[in-house]
Amino acid sequence: MLGRATRAVARNAQQTRAFMAFAEDHDQIRDVARGFAEERLMPIAGETDRLHKFPREAVNELAELGFMGMMVSEEDNGGGMDAVSYAVALEEISRGCASAGVIMSANNSLYCAPVSANATSQQQKDEFLKPYASGEKIGCFALSEPGNGSDAGAASTTAKDAGDHFVLNGTKAWITNALEADAAVVFATTDKSLKHKGISAFVVDRSTPGFSVGAPEDKLGIRGSSTANLIFEDCKIPKTALLGKEGDGFKIAMQTLDGGRIGIAAQACGIAQASLDIAATYAAERQAFGKPIKALYAIQEKLSKMACQLESARLLTWRAAAYKDAGRNYTKEAAMAKLVASEAATYNAHQAIQVLGGMGYVSDMPAERYYRDARITEIYEGTSEIQHVVVALNLLKEYAAEATTLPAGSKDEGHAAQEIAA
Ligand SMILES: Cc1cc2nc3c(=O)[nH]c(=O)nc-3n(C[C@H](O)[C@H](O)[C@H](O)COP(=O)(O)OP(=O)(O)OC[C@H]3O[C@@H](n4cnc5c(N)ncnc54)[C@H](O)[C@@H]3O)c2cc1C
Repeated sequence: MLGRATRAVARNAQQTRAFMAFAEDHDQIRDVARGFAEERLMPIAGETDRLHKFPREAVNELAELGFMGMMVSEEDNGGGMDAVSYAVALEEISRGCASAGVIMSANNSLYCAPVSANATSQQQKDEFLKPYASGEKIGCFALSEPGNGSDAGAASTTAKDAGDHFVLNGTKAWITNALEADAAVVFATTDKSLKHKGISAFVVDRSTPGFSVGAPEDKLGIRGSSTANLIFEDCKIPKTALLGKEGDGFKIAMQTLDGGRIGIAAQACGIAQASLDIAATYAAERQAFGKPIKALYAIQEKLSKMACQLESARLLTWRAAAYKDAGRNYTKEAAMAKLVASEAATYNAHQAIQVLGGMGYVSDMPAERYYRDARITEIYEGTSEIQHVVVALNLLKEYAAEATTLPAGSKDEGHAAQEIAA
């Protein structure tokens, strides 16, 4: 059953790749990731979910494949790959197991990326980047707090300057990989009067006294990945824990989330693809009224809509990654990709259950898991509502910039656009 689905996926991906003029490397990365997902992840994904079990062995194997620090330079033990490679690989891994997808995504985009981009010394790289980029250790990213998720600038965790060290106090909420992480990128206020400009980023070893992890959350989906609070109580961290400069934290968080959103978009594409696979395969086999249900127009329309949603999402994801690789600003593109792909994942998983009927609702088939896993992609790394804000503000900024170059007589429209953007 899966062999057929895989061939169909390969055909679709090949067509899309032809349009995108993909490099051969990307094809090879996709083949490796797909092979691993089918052989190693799909067989354990149901149990991983049912038992809320961190897929340790599979994560070790992802590390051996070089998938835990894909975009970190080879010099720092990473894969030295581009963002398109990352998106391609993460989609395949998430198609096999969305929990493994988020574990990989959090280590790559949320931990390794900000450490790699903002490390201030070789010692910091040796200790906090190299073993994480190789996948020997796992990291996490601690921005959200019980009182503020979307409003990240309102961080109440503090880092008090105590001369030769900082003292961290506060609680970070819903942190992916919290239970397994050996270190965390933590955002804390060093100067409250400066509001979001007074937030700084630190990289903190888990064994530091005063750093503890709360009880794991019982979740709807992605149950193989852990989610828990990080608690800091008079936690002394050295001055060398600072990433970038004091006050850079909010900027580092936003840049990290731009890259992270490409990862979540890819994860969502993987769930959307898995949902389409199961629906199309089942529709060819299930008989109703003397013929396979794939012959019914109602079912064909569902499959068509699912494929359209998925392909749109995939193209937006690859475009955002291609912009990142080209060194262009990709904030709007990443937000669009995450928004559309997460909605495609939820839509496709919902429709997959409908195509499977009763079999969609029971856990003998993975459709119900896809449905539960899909939901989080519309929430973490910025909810869909926040993605709309990011897209709209960037869009209006672009219109306002264009308005300044409009011919005389169009001045009023330009002024109006600037006012809206402000
Ligand atoms: C499984 C899981 C894993 C996570 N992993 C991490 C992690 O690794 N690291 C981390 O830092 N965080 C993590 N999070 C936190 C996650 O990023 C936040 O839950 C998310 O950003 C939303 O914040 P909130 O839950 O506080 O919702 P709120 O901010 O309280 O939002 C509630 C509702 O109000 C809407 N809303 C809020 N502000 C606006 C606005 N300005 N305009 C329009 N609508 C708005 C939201 O869209 C939402 O519908 C994780 C969460 C979960 C559930």
